[in-house]
Amino acid sequence: MLLTITTTHVPATDLGYLLHKHPARVQSFSMSFGQAHVFYPEAGDERCTAALLLEVDPIGLVRGRHGLQSSSFALEQYVNDRPYVVSSFMSVAIGHVFGSALGGRSKERPELVEQPLPLHAHLSVVQCHGGETLLRRLFEPLGYIVEAQQHPLDEQFPAWGESWYFTLGLAATIRLRDLLSHLYVLIPVLDNEKHYWVGEEEVEKLLRHGSAWLARHPERELITKRYLRYQRRLTRAALAQLVRDELPDPDRSEEEHAREEEALEERISLHELRLQAVLEAIKQSGATRVLDLGCGEGRLLKLLLADRSFESILGMDVSYRAIERARERLRLDRLPARDQRRLKLIQGSLIYADQRLAGYDAAAIVEVIEHLDTSRLAAFERVVFEQARPGTVVVTTPNREYNVRWETLPAGRFRHKDHRFEWTRSEFEQWARAVCDRFGYTVTFQPIGPEDPVVGAPSQMAIFQVQRRDPA
Ligand code: SAH
Repeated sequence: MLLTITTTHVPATDLGYLLHKHPARVQSFSMSFGQAHVFYPEAGDERCTAALLLEVDPIGLVRGRHGLQSSSFALEQYVNDRPYVVSSFMSVAIGHVFGSALGGRSKERPELVEQPLPLHAHLSVVQCHGGETLLRRLFEPLGYIVEAQQHPLDEQFPAWGESWYFTLGLAATIRLRDLLSHLYVLIPVLDNEKHYWVGEEEVEKLLRHGSAWLARHPERELITKRYLRYQRRLTRAALAQLVRDELPDPDRSEEEHAREEEALEERISLHELRLQAVLEAIKQSGATRVLDLGCGEGRLLKLLLADRSFESILGMDVSYRAIERARERLRLDRLPARDQRRLKLIQGSLIYADQRLAGYDAAAIVEVIEHLDTSRLAAFERVVFEQARPGTVVVTTPNREYNVRWETLPAGRFRHKDHRFEWTRSEFEQWARAVCDRFGYTVTFQPIGPEDPVVGAPSQMAIFQVQRRDPA
């Protein structure tokens, strides 16, 4: 059975550093079920392919009792598809032979580990009783372009119809470690019938290699169930754990901290007030094409979508997870086609110039600037006020002065652990006026939430209007 991974990243031979396998060498590894070989059918600067070839020894398997289920049909133990069809043995081999790459370790190219690369995986052959539909349901949510070629049962007898065997191609621009982790978990899911190594420790493996992406995969239940081969108890444990304690990842801690912040602000449902105020300001401006920058889970997008005067809405967030959550919360795939056309969700960062943001009437930037490093604010200002340059920009941020009024907030702490700063009213106003001078906008301010006579309102909003179409 054969898995190849190809990249067109330049120089493509960096693949060798990431996999810890030299492109010029053939290496072999002894595994309990046979031999694993790694070699490179091509290794050029522009294209490099690594192959993982497994030679499964079905007889050895029976003798060594490495797990073939006892079958009433004795010959099946010797004559079967095991040597050819990509199965859970491939996952075992990936874990063993590409363990460092799977774990995201590279001494020579540490920066490449985190970099999405153009990758293409080719598996010949997989067996999938759910057919092409299941292949797509498993891999497309992870961002792959899926090519599945189904094979006839017997080429000489077309009337017999199709088999459940497929040649599978997966293409995406993705981190290599993610590709390996997806294969590691999903290959045994395809290999539903004969799956060899289910046990308590598999829960742990599944969580280790899958938790970052599995928790938000629409088919997570099917994947967990099949991976653990319908063992109910294990499945429940794994699912519960997935929900409870995932590996720490930046998006997740952002979400958790957002929840803490929300709980703190809950009594007056400050966020609702804030979103209403922003919506009102955008409506007042007469905008029909609107940006929601740092849209998070899409709460404002929902309000914008409900108002037909907004014809074109673009939500952007740096967090892929936030975008996915927004897509789910808005039930984007179930909206009428007309609404689907009105709303676009993209991943992107506010500190890099982005052509996609040009040509809009208004932008909302709600509780986002305080998440940016102060050293990045200047870049952010140029992206929004010089390059995207909408007629109206609405920015909200906490009012730090109000923090003393939150009983549960220890003195000197911000409302959200990921806030890089929180501004007083005068600090916010100073910043906003400087932006106006630099980019040719005017600004007005509004408090959000109940105003305290001493410390002001909990949140603050600046509404910028462009003075002239061209920046200074
Ligand atoms: N506007 C939303 C979310 C606020 S939380 C709401 O009011 O509900 C802050 C959001 O800003 C998070 O979703 C975070 O992922 C996003 N964010 C942080 N830095 C960003 C950047 N550089 N570019 C775009 N979004 C960013």
